[in-house]
Amino acid sequence: MSADDFLSLVTQAVFLIVFADVAVKAIGGRDRARLDIALFFGVIVAIIGLSDFGRLTGTQTPVVESSLLGLVSLLGYVLVRIVDDFAPQRSWLMGATAAGTLVLIVAAFALPHPAPSWFAALSVAWFAALGGYASIAFARLATRTRGVTQRRMQAVAAGSGLVALAFMLAIVGVFAPAYASDLMIGTRLLALAGGTAYFIGFSTPVALRRAWQEPELRRFLSRAASLPRLPSSAAIVAELERGAAESTGAPSATVGLFDRHRNKLQYHERSGATFETEPDALIGGKVFTEGRPFFTADARRTDPANAQLYDQRNATAVIGAPIASDGRPLGVLLVYARRAPIFAEDDLSLVQLLADQAAVVLESRTLIEEAATVQAREEATRLKDDFLSAAAHDLRTPLTTLLLHAELLQRHARQDPGAPLELDRVASIVGEAHRLQELVTSFLDASRAERGQMLGRRETVNLAELVAETCARVAGNGRNCRSEVSGPILGSYDPDRLRQLIDNLVENALKYSSAESEVLVRAWRDSELAHITVADRGIGIPAADLPHLFDRFHRGSNVDDRRFQGLGLGLYICRAIAQEHGGEISAESELGQGSTFHVVLPALPVAALDLEEARPTLDIEAAPIEAIGPEAAGSGVGA
Ligand code: ADP
Repeated sequence: MSADDFLSLVTQAVFLIVFADVAVKAIGGRDRARLDIALFFGVIVAIIGLSDFGRLTGTQTPVVESSLLGLVSLLGYVLVRIVDDFAPQRSWLMGATAAGTLVLIVAAFALPHPAPSWFAALSVAWFAALGGYASIAFARLATRTRGVTQRRMQAVAAGSGLVALAFMLAIVGVFAPAYASDLMIGTRLLALAGGTAYFIGFSTPVALRRAWQEPELRRFLSRAASLPRLPSSAAIVAELERGAAESTGAPSATVGLFDRHRNKLQYHERSGATFETEPDALIGGKVFTEGRPFFTADARRTDPANAQLYDQRNATAVIGAPIASDGRPLGVLLVYARRAPIFAEDDLSLVQLLADQAAVVLESRTLIEEAATVQAREEATRLKDDFLSAAAHDLRTPLTTLLLHAELLQRHARQDPGAPLELDRVASIVGEAHRLQELVTSFLDASRAERGQMLGRRETVNLAELVAETCARVAGNGRNCRSEVSGPILGSYDPDRLRQLIDNLVENALKYSSAESEVLVRAWRDSELAHITVADRGIGIPAADLPHLFDRFHRGSNVDDRRFQGLGLGLYICRAIAQEHGGEISAESELGQGSTFHVVLPALPVAALDLEEARPTLDIEAAPIEAIGPEAAGSGVGA
């Protein structure tokens, strides 16, 4: 066998293999694109068969010659149809190609035998021109896709270009018979290369497909690892959809998640809205309930009842794969394309791979959420434990003293029933009982604050009055408290809680400063807001404590428990009162220099002042502190 014969045999074998493969696919798939591809290779195989027949028999009957020329003309048209299957071509172009081909086929049978060489050259040139056109069209299409589809398009573009070149060399051979045999080798080599490129493009070996899929998959997988940590499930789904669309080269992808409690499939629209269906509705539902990947080249035909929905989403071809973990269905991944991707079988396995990865991401997300819930529960339990031990610890001291005095009283009364009542012991018992009551109240308040239930009935309150009253009471108690109030400052507040807030800040200011240093309380109104500040020149607060000052049980690191009694609940309760009124509280301080606490609350609009009966503006500086009267003194404000 000569080298030429061998080359020819291999080329024929390659085209035969591709034909067998695409024919099987066409029988299985039956869409126009697959039929056109099968027809294209069928025509090539027929051309090979007829030319071999001529070569073997040594004769060229008129029918064989006309058929050969007709088939060559037809080949170009079929190739342009395949281009049209991938991306619709202009109708005039398709019409002109069909008409030109028809004329050439008719001429092939009408012209006398043997056909003139110019006609043979014209038929071959027709194919070469259309093949060149197809090659450029496929190359351009390849730039618009990604992954495996892109590589296959590139291979088909190369195949078409090489086969067109092979035919062009053949024409040269017709007009330059002296070089015909050399040119024949070139033609055969180009045809073999073209056939191989077609083989790669249309009958891609699995190993090659995997290798081509790898970079896209790798990109998706490397991103997938960080997805479960995104802030919301919707953000994760959006990323999965983007990744799936990019990896498959499809314009869009959608993830439908199964809501077990409501028995619905939920799709998040890009607009942020949620689209909900029964678990077996639409193509997504079919994939979900059957638990198998699915491809349709025409969604409207597969599910005619919902054709409009597919139109709205530009979904002609749909590939769907179930998202499941350990056999537990979680949802579906759907990839849409405006036209049926010819290489759907590859994409089917890729989409299933992506869906499996999506399952891993969603499962990880669930685990992270469960872990967070457990952690929150543990934190709540820890806080409760802290609360209990702090409460028990703080209650024990006054309780022990109280019990001690009571037992002594009891023993003395037994020993000497007629002895006079030890009044100082009774006073101690009453004092400790009061302290216990205060502690229990603080704990109850803290637990109310925790639940956001601090406030009772609200009414119109004049803040200016409250501030002045507190300061006056404290001053009556012998401490140095000055108030600067410009009022009235009206707001809708719970008067008891607001009094508690101001009292607490003033008590702290007194507690954490020396007996003679001044505490300044100011209150004013600024547009729609009421402001209160309580400033002292006391021990101050370390900068490191400031961010935690309003936390439950937090006490400054500069505070000695034996010198300054306290639970670290006061400011926590103050913040809850301010916040439940729609306001805020903050603190500024310099260690050793003093602290200023600032409360801002919503105030009633100035117009509300007219509704209030005219009250005199309080000017405490003008009102002598002694004038407030001794009944205000001793009401519990003190260091
Ligand atoms: P308590 O006073 O019972 O410790 P608070 O919640 O009222 O609890 O205050 C929390 C902590 O904030 C105090 O322990 C103290 O360290 C600091 N603090 C509050 N007010 C002042 C202030 N006026 N000057 C200095 N430190 C203060």
